[in-house]
Amino acid sequence: MTIRTRFAPSPTGYLHVGGARTALFCWLHARARQGQFVLRIEDTDRERSTDESVRAILDGMAWLGLSHDEGPFYQTQRMERYNEVIEQLLAEDKAYHCDCSKERLEQLREEQMVKGLKPRYDGHCAQRGLRHKNNHTVVRFRNPKDGVVSFRDQVRGMISVANAELDDLVIRRPDGSPTYNFCVVVDDMDMGITEVIRGDDHINNTPRQLNIYQALGAKPPEFAHVPMILGDDGARLSKRHGAVSVLQYRDDGYLPEALLNYLVRLGWSYGDEEVFSLDDMIAKFDINEVNRKASAFSTEKLNWLNQHYLKSNTIEDIEPHLQWHFERLGIDPANGPSLAELIDVQRDRVVTLKEMAEESRYYYLDLTEYNTGDAHKHLKGRAHEVFRLLLQRLGDLADWSAAALSAEVKATAKELELGMGKVAMPLRVALMGEARSPSIDKTLLLVGRSRTLERLRHALAWMELHANG
Ligand code: GLU
Repeated sequence: MTIRTRFAPSPTGYLHVGGARTALFCWLHARARQGQFVLRIEDTDRERSTDESVRAILDGMAWLGLSHDEGPFYQTQRMERYNEVIEQLLAEDKAYHCDCSKERLEQLREEQMVKGLKPRYDGHCAQRGLRHKNNHTVVRFRNPKDGVVSFRDQVRGMISVANAELDDLVIRRPDGSPTYNFCVVVDDMDMGITEVIRGDDHINNTPRQLNIYQALGAKPPEFAHVPMILGDDGARLSKRHGAVSVLQYRDDGYLPEALLNYLVRLGWSYGDEEVFSLDDMIAKFDINEVNRKASAFSTEKLNWLNQHYLKSNTIEDIEPHLQWHFERLGIDPANGPSLAELIDVQRDRVVTLKEMAEESRYYYLDLTEYNTGDAHKHLKGRAHEVFRLLLQRLGDLADWSAAALSAEVKATAKELELGMGKVAMPLRVALMGEARSPSIDKTLLLVGRSRTLERLRHALAWMELHANG
């Protein structure tokens, strides 16, 4: 049998890390078993679903590289099918019309609460044989009265619920729209889903859904309910903890491999390994070994992984991601060193690609101002001698390489009898506007000859103007 999993987000917000982890688990489970991964957009809640959110989900999945084999299917395009199945259930007396008013249901609820009972529908219309519809008629699924619904959850183990606990679920609202628990079953059945992996906030729905499968004579899939993700303070992960949208992580400069590696370890482990390439994950991941306890998010660990992938990925892998960040900053990478050269120098120095792009802007753009504190601290004293001598030495330097530049800077320090700091720090400010940059030879290399000479002249003029030399 071919394994088929699905990710079925509701497009009512962004693709958050919890959803992305569910999607990753579904994707891995299918990929590891030569199975198929289906994407389904559960957009029946017309009030809360938005096109923007659909886009965010598709973009987030594409950025993570979690490719689907089928879909995206949209529930709103399957209304006819849901109604067909509802009519079938009505015809077989496995569902019935109910015209209980809101007031009656409210009163029932209150009475049950007073008696300390769980609020549930009392089956008032179950045997009335109503045929007509009016604007408050719903269709209810006839849930079995006796017995127990049991299933073995791949994360939680055996779960059993007595049917006496479940009431007759509304499957079609007065406006004719089918409800979530019903649509999910019809979809998973029609789409041949063999394994449902989803958040454990759905665990209470599963016994109800199993009864619907049974009524339809369909074989239910296997289920795995994965625990939720908490923030580092133990509360449910929310915006309060920083970014929770997958695309926000992209914008903040994380590599998709880092986020995927981070997500796979939320609730799953393999010995004490921390670093998993996609191939590793596919080979080692096992849904049966997902932990049943909630797992906590740690930005520190994500940062560590991002640095790891920035250092160990090939330069060609990193280039398109960095290019994207440059585009966001309005920087054209054609106006400076090649991305490969830049990545080679910067990848050990930063935590994120955003930082890499921001810290590199003056290799591509004109330097417009100095950090005031750094300028006053370093563009003074004998710095003007450093700049003058370097202008001479670098003007016609034949070989603009890190080794040759390093030799010129050292020779300058020697000739002026200055410590390296007295040469390098003013030079950093002159070149980058602040006293922070990669090693001075690499900085010169990346700034390039013409920008270097121009910036040295500008620094001299600045010193003259501020009478600092
Ligand atoms: N649409 C549901 C959600 O976004 C998921 C349903 C399911 O996976 O069965 O929570």
